[in-house]
Amino acid sequence: MKNDILMLKYGEVVMKGLNRSYFDGLIVRRVKKLLEGLGSFELQYAQSTLCIRGADGADMDEAADRMKRVFGVSSVCRAYSCEKTTEAIKAAVTENLDELLGDAKTFKCEGKRSDKSFPLTSPQLSAEVGAAVLSARPDLKVDVNAPDAVLRIEVRDKYAAVHGGGEKGAGGMPVGSAGHGLLLLSGGIDSPVAGYMMARRGMTLDALYFDSQPYTGALAENKVEQLAKRLSDYSGRIFMHIISLTEIQETLMKSCDERLFTVLLRRFMMRLAEMQALDVGAGALITGESLGQVASQTLHAITVTNAVPQKLPVFRPLIAMDKDDIVHTARSIGTFDISVLPYEDCCTVFVPKHPNTRPTAEQVAAEEEKLDVTGLTNRAFETRRHKKII
Ligand code: ATP
Ligand code: MG
Repeated sequence: MKNDILMLKYGEVVMKGLNRSYFDGLIVRRVKKLLEGLGSFELQYAQSTLCIRGADGADMDEAADRMKRVFGVSSVCRAYSCEKTTEAIKAAVTENLDELLGDAKTFKCEGKRSDKSFPLTSPQLSAEVGAAVLSARPDLKVDVNAPDAVLRIEVRDKYAAVHGGGEKGAGGMPVGSAGHGLLLLSGGIDSPVAGYMMARRGMTLDALYFDSQPYTGALAENKVEQLAKRLSDYSGRIFMHIISLTEIQETLMKSCDERLFTVLLRRFMMRLAEMQALDVGAGALITGESLGQVASQTLHAITVTNAVPQKLPVFRPLIAMDKDDIVHTARSIGTFDISVLPYEDCCTVFVPKHPNTRPTAEQVAAEEEKLDVTGLTNRAFETRRHKKII
């Protein structure tokens, strides 16, 4: 076993009282899944921190990277572990000074003794280790107010660890702790971010993509698959369902007021999404809508769309977000570059020139009177196909 460890500090789950072990178990399950293929690891949990120790040959760099995708973890820290003696701690620090301090010129030590049976108090430990650093590297200086680097020493229950601070974890709640949602996943920028945000609150995901073959092609579907794949890096496996909207779109074009086309289509999407969600036992629909972003996302349009699902809530995590912020998240989770690939999605094929931004329930009902809504919906539902994305 090497001395190189990863320490995962838990976030919100720490406040979960009696259910705590259930949440912890979900984090460990996700961690084990993500460590697959990287070598063998020993996991040890204590004091709100999961310690991951890699055997010889384990890929700790990749492991550290992947751990930043585990929801429920607030920070990921690479550390050196050693026995709980002052001598061993000083040795671990001085042997790894370059990695711990980088090119810092000034530093300070911050000792933390969570095991109170350790003979030195936290300030004493910091002073001892600080002195050892100064004698190993006389060019360095201590600066307690604004140091270039902080050297942290943690004396925990079974081991001591030294490190230069953690990196931000993915935050949120462990996947699987908050039910199952059906994400309406288009090839755009927004819906993958919406899925990510709900997965971050603990939801597992299925994805539903509406295609319009032959107006949209296999490349558009492949793009959505790539997005689902990227999301699954965070959320775990995703079942993707594909439903054809072609007949519905062609019928709407023929029979309905063009200005209401988009909102009528979105109502069909919601009908089908609710059917699909109930079919797979999902408890919520998730969309990437953001207030006012496009004509179909005005308060009026959302009101008539929202009236469709009868049983399930619709979660719209982006509703109050600016496009810039959505793009920022899309970049940071790696979906942006896929979303901007240039394949048409079904909604860009039939876009009215002058959409009605203030549709009413009465107008929509009058248009739907002209259609066989049930027949169209059921026939579209029959076109569904499924893919497993891991
Ligand atoms: P996105 O960037 O997510 O495509 P958008 O800004 O283009 O969103 P719309 O096209 O109005 O907005 O779609 C709003 C939401 O409806 C999307 O975020 C998505 O959840 C859902 N949606 C739209 N088109 C599709 C589709 N072809 N398949 C599945 N869901 C879709
Ligand atoms: Mg779109």
